[in-house]
Amino acid sequence: MASLETALIHQHISPEISGAVVPPLVQSTTFCRDPKGDFIEGRDIYTRASNPNRRLLENKLALLEKGTDAACFASGQAATMSIFHSLGQNSHVILPDDIYYGTRVILENLYKNWNIEYTVVDMANSINIEKAIRPNTKLVWIESPSNPCLKIADIATITDICTQNRILTAVDNTWSSPYFTNPLALGADIVMHSTTKYLGGHSDILGGAVIWGDKLEADKAQSIKDYQSIGGGVPSPYDCWLLNRSLSTFFVRMAKHNSNAAELANFLSTHPKIERVYYPGLVNHQNHEIAKKQMTNGFGGMMSILIKGDEKNCLAVASKLKVFQHATSLGGVESLVDHRRTAEGVHSVSVGNLLRISVGIENIEDLIEDFAQALS
Ligand SMILES: *Cc1c(COP(=O)(O)O)cnc(C)c1O
Repeated sequence: MASLETALIHQHISPEISGAVVPPLVQSTTFCRDPKGDFIEGRDIYTRASNPNRRLLENKLALLEKGTDAACFASGQAATMSIFHSLGQNSHVILPDDIYYGTRVILENLYKNWNIEYTVVDMANSINIEKAIRPNTKLVWIESPSNPCLKIADIATITDICTQNRILTAVDNTWSSPYFTNPLALGADIVMHSTTKYLGGHSDILGGAVIWGDKLEADKAQSIKDYQSIGGGVPSPYDCWLLNRSLSTFFVRMAKHNSNAAELANFLSTHPKIERVYYPGLVNHQNHEIAKKQMTNGFGGMMSILIKGDEKNCLAVASKLKVFQHATSLGGVESLVDHRRTAEGVHSVSVGNLLRISVGIENIEDLIEDFAQALS
């Protein structure tokens, strides 16, 4: 197929059978065998193991991330679990200090009995990773931009360090999305997504995905696939169908998220009531040059701001916003703000005057006006 945009719209299950322009939803949990009772080549057997709607989705995601294969899950967390699960006991993992909260909770909580240790480092500077490597380090987990301070990690440099040390690199590419970053093309072994966010795009489907290329060893890929098909944390055919539909508009949505975010970041960064804007597209961002090098098409739809004043004042601004709704999560067509300190609770490392913004695809003048009135 000529281009990704076209492929995402035109990939199909079996148009020759149904004639349907839109891929049909296959709800069946089981599929017929041949007269001898054998499985039929190219057909599905049982929906936990594979399903036409899920396979279509996995093909599209592998294409989008420039990988060779993908496994979809019922949530981003289940996708992350499949990667940690493949490491084995007594492993050591290196995590970014600014990591999505839930990822660290998986290691702290669910893998305690596996004796998996982790070190948290500031990945804005790749040297910190070299320093943290131990003999049993099996994985470096990257988020770029990170959550919530939009730190940029140099994916190519980090994967070089890891490849030399025979350590896997997995990138949680949820925030950037494959529209802006393709970690596999930069050398990473594994990409993970919460498809709940930009890939779903409408805040109405929970899901996750793991995507990899030829660089990943076959037994690791198999371990992830086994975790999916035997473990059974799979998305329903309907969720896959919806997500396939979301991908048809992925490129137009992302272009609008990007242009809106860039304009809003410019507006906020010169506003007298704003102390700081964390957005990798701004030239004063700590790693703007690395972002420019490794991100394509722009710098994403996410940013965080520090509002002058204390936590109470920050929450007051959030409550005055009318178009931006105050809710956790991101990547939907609607704009959201999230006060991370209250969202994350007692373990939060966020400062009290930080507001995270997921810029939607509404009219940009409405978004700017909304912040102007809330800050006034
Ligand atoms: C939301 C999110 C996750 C977890 O995904 P779920 O679909 O909620 O399980 C993981 N990483 C990042 C960066 C996220 O934003």
